[in-house]
Amino acid sequence: MKSKDTGKLGFGTKAIHAGQSPEPRTGAVMVPIFQTSTFAQESPGKHTGYEYARTDNPTRTAYQECVASLENGKYALAFASGLATTDTLLHTLKSGDHVICADDVYGGTFRLFDKVLSRFNLEFTFMDLSDPHAVEKAIKPSTKMLWIESPTNPTLKIFDIAALTKLARSKSVLSVVDNTFMSSYFQKPLDLGADVVIHSITKYMNGHSDVVGGVLITNDTAIYEQAKFLQNAVGAIPAPMDCFLVMRGLKTLHVRMKQHQENAIAVAQFLSKHPKIEKVLYPGLESHPQHALAKKQMSGYGGMISFYVKGGLVEARAVLEKVRIFTLAESLGGVESLIEHPAIMTHASVPPENRKKLGISDNLIRISVGIEDASDLIADLNQAIG
Ligand SMILES: *Cc1c(COP(=O)(O)O)cnc(C)c1O
Repeated sequence: MKSKDTGKLGFGTKAIHAGQSPEPRTGAVMVPIFQTSTFAQESPGKHTGYEYARTDNPTRTAYQECVASLENGKYALAFASGLATTDTLLHTLKSGDHVICADDVYGGTFRLFDKVLSRFNLEFTFMDLSDPHAVEKAIKPSTKMLWIESPTNPTLKIFDIAALTKLARSKSVLSVVDNTFMSSYFQKPLDLGADVVIHSITKYMNGHSDVVGGVLITNDTAIYEQAKFLQNAVGAIPAPMDCFLVMRGLKTLHVRMKQHQENAIAVAQFLSKHPKIEKVLYPGLESHPQHALAKKQMSGYGGMISFYVKGGLVEARAVLEKVRIFTLAESLGGVESLIEHPAIMTHASVPPENRKKLGISDNLIRISVGIEDASDLIADLNQAIG
């Protein structure tokens, strides 16, 4: 089904059908893995629309159409990783341009901006995006992009996407939202005014911890054309097999997200009442500082929880070593529950003074609540916390 024909359909129907129709020659119901690097031409320049697989591949086309539809966007482009997506998008800028970025951004995004792209004379300001007036003051004539991530990682701060994208638009600054934590199911940044949405598809969108990938989605034809040119010119494309696997993962996104959330609410409530837990960060809890904003701009609260244990590294390490169902590993968004220590693991590349400012202390633990039985997850945490 062409993604442009899926506009009025429900999310689950789009997840299963958008961009996908039986293969015309054999009737294969699943889009084949077109494992080919090149395509035969009838006469020089006369081809089926596919000529070389870096430029386009039918498996990737189907996947891109499906994601575009889920995010309420016209266009999607897939890449070999979330960071390859970000890097390609930043190639639309030129030397001397300025980018404003959330200070609590994904560690790898910070590293790419601060350690790699800054060497090409792109200028970055990392700041708290909670106050749109402060962001407005930071915008200068050279500011070309506003990079938003909400909720943030690992402290799950929520930024007002509608207010920030409106401000960006009024100043002709391109707004980008990293929607990895909520997935297309719980948050629709394009509907909230964003110019571009990106995902690390590695997380909830694929959902099975077996693919690394990324995607960008936009409604803007000019941005799409620039990014499409760069996708081919820079070349960080996903392999056909990975495109197939992500499409399979997307078919259950709505079912998985509902269960992630149901389990996360149960786990967050359990942790909130536990005497050895100092504080729980989950947007779905009324105690979350931006709970009202979360309720307004998201249709759910997702499956990510961060919490502070009473004590320090010793106490946190004990929990991380004792879990049996939760796996101690980086990453998130898979069907299996994961647990990790941001200061030592995912956010080690964030300088210690920034970690301190952001609340990434040694007693902070982050969990990605999977879709196992909630009672088993709670029992596991209970024995590990002791
Ligand atoms: C993992 C992640 C990324 C980077 O994606 P990769 O697929 O690992 O390259 C970007 N943003 C967020 C929020 C992430 O969690």
